[in-house]
Amino acid sequence: MSFAPLIERSPGFGELRNSIIDTGLCSLCGSCSLLCERIDYGEMPFLKDEVSCVTLTGVKKCGTHGCCFDNCPMTSFSKKEVEFAFFGEGSTDLDIGSYRKILSARSTNERILKKAQNGGTVTSLLNFAIQDQSIDPKYTGAIVTRSGGSWNPLPTFASTSENLIESAGSIYSRLPLAGEIRRLLRDKRSIIFVGTGCQTTGVRLYQYNFLKNLPEGAFHLLEIGLFCYENFPYAQFRNAIEDRCKISIDAITKMNVEKGKLVLYAQDKEIIEYPIREFESLVSEGCKLCTNFTAELADISIGSLGSKIGYNTLIIRSEEGLELVEKAEDNNIIETSTGVSIEEIRKIMVRKRKMSEIITTKRLANGQYVPKID
Ligand SMILES: Cc1cc2nc3c(=O)[nH]c(=O)nc-3n(C[C@H](O)[C@H](O)[C@H](O)COP(=O)(O)OP(=O)(O)OC[C@H]3O[C@@H](n4cnc5c(N)ncnc54)[C@H](O)[C@@H]3O)c2cc1C
Ligand code: SF4
Ligand code: SF4
Ligand code: SF4
Repeated sequence: MSFAPLIERSPGFGELRNSIIDTGLCSLCGSCSLLCERIDYGEMPFLKDEVSCVTLTGVKKCGTHGCCFDNCPMTSFSKKEVEFAFFGEGSTDLDIGSYRKILSARSTNERILKKAQNGGTVTSLLNFAIQDQSIDPKYTGAIVTRSGGSWNPLPTFASTSENLIESAGSIYSRLPLAGEIRRLLRDKRSIIFVGTGCQTTGVRLYQYNFLKNLPEGAFHLLEIGLFCYENFPYAQFRNAIEDRCKISIDAITKMNVEKGKLVLYAQDKEIIEYPIREFESLVSEGCKLCTNFTAELADISIGSLGSKIGYNTLIIRSEEGLELVEKAEDNNIIETSTGVSIEEIRKIMVRKRKMSEIITTKRLANGQYVPKID
């Protein structure tokens, strides 16, 4: 498989480390390893072989492309250009991005509803798209997140209803999910990727920069983005929950962040509420700088904010996303209604922008990298 080179020279891993990773901007989305096997992940991305990118004369071995840098959602890029390439001309909004339709929705499947975070729309759409033979393109499966035990998030490729339902529910910890695509490039032709704003943006940049050069039908991706206000590093979050809430992580069966509180459940019963601000020190500078609350480059973005409890808000952005949602409505896979409160999303965006401005000012004063995303 060959990729056409980028037009502009890109700095590569050295610059990714200097500008993003070492200055706290990395959200551990995994996009930098989408095309490159030299990167691995611990708490942060690192090179398996420290000298692998650069020869003794300083020339990058991966050529002038440095695709790790170009896929990183924390670097500068033209959002407008990418939106236009994937969504075409359409309605656009400062707080929610480009969109075709906005709906409230909920799964009609009781099993999914029992395991899901909110209205189960994400898992129901995945299950429908992958199992229903009439859907075109034929999706072979989805890259989703499941718990590897004790709420440790793991990337997984799910293609059966059992696997998809197993991965339902939210884990409030970051993971290098996007890197999982590299392993599937050769044999999985058409897949769905589910991730937060940074994860879906990294994958979009990869599609925009590289996949568009592949022959038609060689590899196809649909993205479902999740609303995301902030995310936590797994080990620190786990320890903080156990210390502050005086509970073993293994006793928790569901977590939710709502109205400023982390709510913990055991066997469907709410057992502990704890102010989420008490965990703020764990949130990375990248999450604080990020204003991509509604995953603005995904085909369909899904959250709970703006809809009734137990329902989802859907922002449908692409033609392909709209077709899937409409088929799911026609087949009674999800029930939908209008009347989403965009005002609730705007209020969150005011807070996100304010925090982003504070971080931007601080970074500029310290001479640190600040991406321009316009
Ligand atoms: C870190 C995080 C923060 C969020 N913050 C908000 C918020 O502030 N406001 C809001 O309205 N919604 C937020 N959401 C989205 C919300 O929690 C639900 O995922 C969304 O409403 C879909 O609900 P559902 O019932 O349809 O999902 P389900 O059908 O339960 O499916 C959930 C999907 O989320 C995926 N997933 C779980 N954990 C992760 C993870 N760590 N990273 C990537 N994917 C994951 C699973 O693979 C699954 O496919 C957040 C989600 C995450 C992961
Ligand atoms: S080889 Fe290229 S893509 Fe891989 S880490 Fe080095 S600069 Fe990045
Ligand atoms: S691509 Fe993602 S994982 Fe890699 S440096 Fe950027 S934010 Fe971090
Ligand atoms: S707040 Fe932004 S950077 Fe942080 S995990 Fe969510 S989408 Fe990614």
